[in-house]
Amino acid sequence: MLAGPLLVCRHCDTIHAAAAVEPGGMACCSRCGYVLFRRSRYSLDFWRAMAAAALVVFAIANLFPMATLSLLGKTVDVTFVGALWLSWHQGHYLLSVMTGLAGFWFPLLQLCFLFWALGCIRSGRLPADFSYALRIYSKAAPWSMVPVLMLGIIVAIVKFSDLASLEPGPGIWAFAVLTFMLTAFSRLDSQRLWRLAEDAGLVPVARDTGGVPIERLAACEVCGYLQECTVEASCQRCGNDIHKRKPGMETRVWAFMLAAAVVYVPANVLPMMEIRSALGSSQHTILGGVMELWRLGSWDLALIVFIASVVVPITKLIALAVLMSMREWRGELVQRQRTRLYELVEFIGQWSMLDVFVVILMAAMANFPGVSQILPGPAAASFGMVVVLTMLAALSYDPRAGWDQGRPAAAGKIGNG
Ligand SMILES: [Zn+2]
Ligand SMILES: [Zn+2]
Repeated sequence: MLAGPLLVCRHCDTIHAAAAVEPGGMACCSRCGYVLFRRSRYSLDFWRAMAAAALVVFAIANLFPMATLSLLGKTVDVTFVGALWLSWHQGHYLLSVMTGLAGFWFPLLQLCFLFWALGCIRSGRLPADFSYALRIYSKAAPWSMVPVLMLGIIVAIVKFSDLASLEPGPGIWAFAVLTFMLTAFSRLDSQRLWRLAEDAGLVPVARDTGGVPIERLAACEVCGYLQECTVEASCQRCGNDIHKRKPGMETRVWAFMLAAAVVYVPANVLPMMEIRSALGSSQHTILGGVMELWRLGSWDLALIVFIASVVVPITKLIALAVLMSMREWRGELVQRQRTRLYELVEFIGQWSMLDVFVVILMAAMANFPGVSQILPGPAAASFGMVVVLTMLAALSYDPRAGWDQGRPAAAGKIGNG
């Protein structure tokens, strides 16, 4: 029997009895090394104030222009929302919806839920829809891509500085601040919020296994609550569907990967954007865009776009294929390396969205019909789909499956690091 709140590693399914971790410290899984949780140095009130500040910064970033351009006496103010609107109007619906969700709606949803949830915990009373809201919060988090958008803004501005004069606006500084804030908030995932509610004594805590054998226990992915679950069940604490192992992993991962590999072909062969000017029009593929940046002397940005658009999707597909096909290889070291590989796949997941953001921003910047205009090409939406499909493949993969035939997931003590 175990004492203290129980934590389950979501990578290798090992159950740990939580030890006290000092503020600023973190606890790692004793078996696979995954970071189970970090204890924040800051109070609930601090995080709530930060969330309120981030909402203000979010408003500034989207209401004020990130750049003002002038060409032949005409000026254009560029905002991200304006860029989404324009691409919708030009008939690039899929592109507009994908970039709008990743760069606007999901970050906004994330901030609103965070502010509200922290307020609920602070007030000492959880409303009935707290668990429902946190389920949405946890599903939306991987799709919120403001840091990628910020890098996209920088690349678009550097590319554009060659074509017309450009003045940075307050929006771009607000996006830079928002990037740092959202990166800090990424640590406050749904499990962390539930843990804060546990600390405040507002929700039940799993303190022992209740005599249930380890192989019949599973933790909820949203709230981390350990409970009995043989195949699948509904979480006793938050109502989320919990599975001993993610269902249909084999079929889903391969299907998403195959679809991503198919869509990857038009994404690279078709033009990413079309540049129209008085002198005629030219079409650019992803690799053409990289070479263009190189020619402008921005070899560093050329390298970043090349890595994000070409290296990352291929690495993700290869890494997932390795993870899927080499599950028979056993041994603590191999299994740990597989866990690191999956962490890499999760980490690089959204960065290939970079060029898609660059395209819609550049289309909004060069919007001088008849004089000079940039239009998104068919590859932009295809490329967005590659990102979505590879992310869905990674989310369907269950890292716990790789550990199943190793030593049983015995209870251990968490390490302090
Ligand atoms: Zn682990
Ligand atoms: Zn739950």
